[in-house]
Amino acid sequence: MPALSKILSLRAVGQVRHYSAAAQSQLRDILGQQLSAIKEVGTFKAERIITSSQSTQITVQGSEKRILNFCANNYLGLANNPEIVAYSQQLLERYGAGLSSVRFICGTQDIHKQLEQKIAQFHGREDTILYASCFDANAGIFEAILTPEDAVFSDELNHASIIDGIRLCKAKKQRYKHRDLADLEQQLRSSDARLKLIATDGVFSMDGNIAPLARIIELAKKYNALVFVDECHATGFFGATGRGTEEYDQVMGEVDIINSTLGKALGGASGGYTTGPAELISFLRQKSRPYLFSNTLPPAVVGVGLKVMDMLLSSSELSQRVQSNTQRFRDAMTKAGFTIAGENHPICPVMLGDARLASNFADQMLTRGIYVIGFSYPVVPQGKARIRVQISAAHTEEEIDRAVQAFIEVGRGLKVIK
Ligand code: PLP
Repeated sequence: MPALSKILSLRAVGQVRHYSAAAQSQLRDILGQQLSAIKEVGTFKAERIITSSQSTQITVQGSEKRILNFCANNYLGLANNPEIVAYSQQLLERYGAGLSSVRFICGTQDIHKQLEQKIAQFHGREDTILYASCFDANAGIFEAILTPEDAVFSDELNHASIIDGIRLCKAKKQRYKHRDLADLEQQLRSSDARLKLIATDGVFSMDGNIAPLARIIELAKKYNALVFVDECHATGFFGATGRGTEEYDQVMGEVDIINSTLGKALGGASGGYTTGPAELISFLRQKSRPYLFSNTLPPAVVGVGLKVMDMLLSSSELSQRVQSNTQRFRDAMTKAGFTIAGENHPICPVMLGDARLASNFADQMLTRGIYVIGFSYPVVPQGKARIRVQISAAHTEEEIDRAVQAFIEVGRGLKVIK
């Protein structure tokens, strides 16, 4: 009997013993206990299975009904755009499924270079390096460019991937209080590091609030520091023409290093990048480990990025639409008596306070066909539970109004508003 079918037949009668059965059962016990504890405190994350494409209206497993989706980072509504899908299919056929290689061995096609150039053009930068994700871009940058002589100053609420990236580097690590310029200045003043790098999210995704970039740049100039910004929740749609937080705060071109994602507004497939000075990008191609040791982006994914960049370079209509939808939602909700945190960003946290209330509220919204998610501790601070609503350019005004109406009905029922 061939080896595989012998194993399969033994497994069928329960006779296969893994050589490390004892170790494996110990692992199952340890993890099982921790999983039970996670479930007990109510923070176990289950996946809702979507049976349609990502869109403002989706279907989910177990239901035929379309539900209105306010949870995705699909800010420009491009995740299922037919023109983008068709172009991506063309590149799949012409360039194949993938490259089976990292970039510098035999994984760079002309389309990778084209996408890097278009992203640099979009941001007005000298060059760009692509990664498989922005998580990788953040994991790869600090360790590559900073030495023990250097220091990195990081907002305490930065995204997990920035925190992990900084952990990997040997520079002195200094955390400053969230958006607290006095704390940042005090730390910059007392630093004698060779290179000083300030690292911040452009937009903080739990609160929808914005880094005070213009004032951070002033401090950077005063103390000869570099500025790094993660623009995952800004690129393509935030600021007058979607150039991100530096456009919103009127400091276009003044950030030294921008990292961002292709996995949210820019078509929602996957991929990340660093864009900035030519020497930095060239250096990252020599030293950045997620770039050197991970497979190149597949052609179909590159196709999504290329088509989205063409669209955004020729028109800012979509970013204007997400902005007007955001304004419509925030105005109506505030008028109804809800507290919406953050600034005028499509991340609209509806503040509720109590964790159980937030989860009950989200469940009741779903029964009205509106998909929103409640966030509670430890994702947000204790007592600051909320429902995070994310607005897209693809939502119609009627869909926004339906969501507001459902919020009002549920809010009244739960005595959150009068
Ligand atoms: N940075 C921020 C602020 C994010 O919100 C995310 C995604 O959640 C990432 C980085 C990681 O991006 P990607 O999904 O491309 O790895």
